[in-house]
Amino acid sequence: MAAHMLRRTKIIATLGPATDDPKTLDRMIEAGLDVVRINFSHGTAEEHLERAERVRNRARAHGRQVGVLADLQGPKIRIERFRDGPIQLTEGDLFTIDTAHDPNGGDAQVVATSYKQLPEDVNRGDTLLIDDGRLVLWVEEVHTTKVTCRVVVGGTLSDRKGINRLGGGLSAPALTQKDYDDIRTAAKMEADYLAVSFPRCGQDIENARKLFREAGGHGAIVAKVERAEAVEAMEEIILASDAIMVARGDLGVEIGDAALPPVQKRLIQTARRLNRVAITATQMMESMIHSPIPTRAEVFDVANAVLDGTDAVMLSAETATGDFPDKAIAAMDRVCLEAEKQRNITGAEHRINTRFQHVDEGIAMAAMYTANHLGVKAIIALTESGSTALWMSRIASGIPIYALTPHVGTRRKVTLYRGVYPVSFVCNSTDHATVNAEAVDELLRRGAVRDGDLVIITKGDLIGVRGGTNAMKIVRVGEMLQPSDGQGQNV
Ligand code: PGA
Ligand code: MN
Repeated sequence: MAAHMLRRTKIIATLGPATDDPKTLDRMIEAGLDVVRINFSHGTAEEHLERAERVRNRARAHGRQVGVLADLQGPKIRIERFRDGPIQLTEGDLFTIDTAHDPNGGDAQVVATSYKQLPEDVNRGDTLLIDDGRLVLWVEEVHTTKVTCRVVVGGTLSDRKGINRLGGGLSAPALTQKDYDDIRTAAKMEADYLAVSFPRCGQDIENARKLFREAGGHGAIVAKVERAEAVEAMEEIILASDAIMVARGDLGVEIGDAALPPVQKRLIQTARRLNRVAITATQMMESMIHSPIPTRAEVFDVANAVLDGTDAVMLSAETATGDFPDKAIAAMDRVCLEAEKQRNITGAEHRINTRFQHVDEGIAMAAMYTANHLGVKAIIALTESGSTALWMSRIASGIPIYALTPHVGTRRKVTLYRGVYPVSFVCNSTDHATVNAEAVDELLRRGAVRDGDLVIITKGDLIGVRGGTNAMKIVRVGEMLQPSDGQGQNV
């Protein structure tokens, strides 16, 4: 088993033109890629389908699982395109956003937006933040289709960058017509995760889930927390979803950059407490778009997200359009590994006073308590849906959790769970001692355990039943029991 299998925090990389070469993908997989993000804000449905297929092909060639996260554009308000490439804006310039302008005909004076309501939503005196706040415009005049602005902070501006209004409140429903189409594409590519952009409440997430299921999608739902309203409705949004993304780009524009660090910590803690997964995203290794090494501040940002308890750290432009996609992953890999050594893993008093809702949750908690206090080498969760592994991974631990399952969908889903590693496992025996022995053999073959190691196995009496985990067994590798006598005594 390669060294990156021992990293607990998962790495998500956004695909884009810079990652289309299969050789680049190979290097990214070798560097420790766990999940790819397909960003529906850019590119065509065909491109997205091709990218998902290509990454799965390359993952298969490496004998690895890579999850696919399809990220909907949502009602993100963006400028359109420039005729001759990126433009320069200088402080004091006048710059107009015109809903009636040619979408491909932007220049240094004017650019289009497809958000037709912009002139109704903004007023003279408003501040517009472009490209996650990198450029700042002050609205001087609103006239019919034109919003004319004075540049307050200038810089380079390229195609399709986002527009936010300081303080939030640009009114747009959570799912657009384009999102409806993209949900069907996400179902077609069998996305393991569907990310919903700019949700305001739990209902927005439920609507997306319903549409995704109707389109035949089986994946889990990620809520991107990127509006001030979503921070207020945090618990409701987390409970409606399977995972959340701390979408620091848009969120920072809406609530102000200084408010981000405490909100990130609160989001991650709340998600873990509610048995949901957390992703920390945006600008984590931003300088690596053009540099082969991260800044010290970026190293600390990634490490601090690990200490906050995030399941995954995400790369955006660093991989999608960056010059060093595999180096950005390698940098995250080494920083996460080192940060994980710092984390206090003896805190298994966690949840000591809570009541568990399900039998399998009880087993998962008992396994983690035992594992953290007895010193086992590995945990084997024989799982159908992956939920036992999810519950286990909500408890801080340094012990690897191997999710053994015959279902490829479950293997891909757990690629996002902190400390959980997918293992393909098909065992047709109903004899528990045989199943245990084969499961341990699988880890022996992978070099994950050795003779003499203690291992915890969790499973259900009825193999193949979802939510059926009701047993935990502690075995010493090399001292396996003989197959049972058929009386059903063994676990
Ligand atoms: P985006 O979302 O990259 O789709 O904008 C993440 C964020 O806003 O941080
Ligand atoms: Mn965003």
